[in-house]
Amino acid sequence: MKFRNFKMVDYVIYGHGSFNQLDEILAPHRKGDAPMIFLVDHYFEKGAATGDGKPLVNRVPLRGKDKIIFADVTYEPKTTQVDKLAKQLKDEFGTVSGVIGIGGGSTLDLAKAVSLMMTNPGSSADYQGWDLVKQAGVYKVGIPTLSGTGAEVSRTTVLTGPTRKLGMNSDFTPFSQIVLDPELIANAPVNQRFYTGMDCYIHCIESLEGTYLNEFSKSYGEKALNLCQHIFLEKDSWDTECDEKLMMASYAGGMSIAYSQVGVAHAVSYGLSYLLGTKHGIGNCIVMNHLEPYYPAGVAEFKKMVEKNKIDIPVGICKGLTDEQFDTMINVSLGMKPLWENALGKDWEKIMTRDKLRALYEKL
Ligand code: NAD
Ligand code: ZN
Repeated sequence: MKFRNFKMVDYVIYGHGSFNQLDEILAPHRKGDAPMIFLVDHYFEKGAATGDGKPLVNRVPLRGKDKIIFADVTYEPKTTQVDKLAKQLKDEFGTVSGVIGIGGGSTLDLAKAVSLMMTNPGSSADYQGWDLVKQAGVYKVGIPTLSGTGAEVSRTTVLTGPTRKLGMNSDFTPFSQIVLDPELIANAPVNQRFYTGMDCYIHCIESLEGTYLNEFSKSYGEKALNLCQHIFLEKDSWDTECDEKLMMASYAGGMSIAYSQVGVAHAVSYGLSYLLGTKHGIGNCIVMNHLEPYYPAGVAEFKKMVEKNKIDIPVGICKGLTDEQFDTMINVSLGMKPLWENALGKDWEKIMTRDKLRALYEKL
């Protein structure tokens, strides 16, 4: 057996107000007058504040030629968007000292990809796959303002390209530094917080119920699951402790899938996202709602969480789709081979037939 030797994030800072240390964290990584580029989720453009009540943009430690670019995450990141941002930076500055992503999973992924495309030639679409990236990117920092995706710890950046939705999975992809400040997720709207939080819960179920599981993944997965259960089921109202726990759940859930894989919910939700543009968090929830046959206990608990937190999960999103559209989703989904193998074992193709998957999509 050959074991994976995976690269992790280089530095982690955690704690309320740790964002205030960003200036000193960046200082040793500044190269001459090459600027730091802050890629900030466009949600913060109009002065939205985080837990301390101050607009986040006013707290970005700009120096010299540093620049804030607001990341438009109306749609999940595309290779064209990454290429455009990298070109813009090369044209304007030649080189930059670093890229700092501040936002949800989409902004974090954009920051990772732009950092890589500052040093790797061609288009980011050329690197969608496994271990295709050849050069380290520029210094990159991830600062989540939503927690759940695990994008802060993963070795991928999920991008929609001309022919597929696939990550740039490589040892060069993880962040050089992450700043985990629970204050930054404190003001997230209830629904968005739930959808992104459930991404983490679903990562745990898919990892813990998967055939790839080992003790490394299990230890992180169980911890993340406990944290999710505590905040989404046991607590009566959301408070600071929930922000702290959700932030660590996302981290541990991400660490769990790093050494295993996700499963059915993700494989099916990728099809929705590719065809209908359904966002990752809500898409996973829409699918999870119908996965009793695969994850009976997890789905029952998920439904309790939905009810307790008074969330509406959309239904009927595949109504009226054509055969061709169903086929597109089925093709995208069945293309996620490692996810199916993790979920259903080596013989997954005999279990998850096209007809069965079509029937599942029709229920959504
Ligand atoms: P998101 O980043 O797509 O953001 C969702 C919405 O919330 C956006 O409108 C954004 O502007 C807004 N937002 C961000 N922070 C906010 C805040 N504090 N308050 C209010 N609104 C805020 O959502 P997400 O669920 O964090 O991320 C999903 C993305 O993550 C997808 O693109 C998915 O592909 C990616 N992802 C990546 C990995 C990975 O390992 N790289 C894993 C899972 C998901
Ligand atoms: Zn996910």
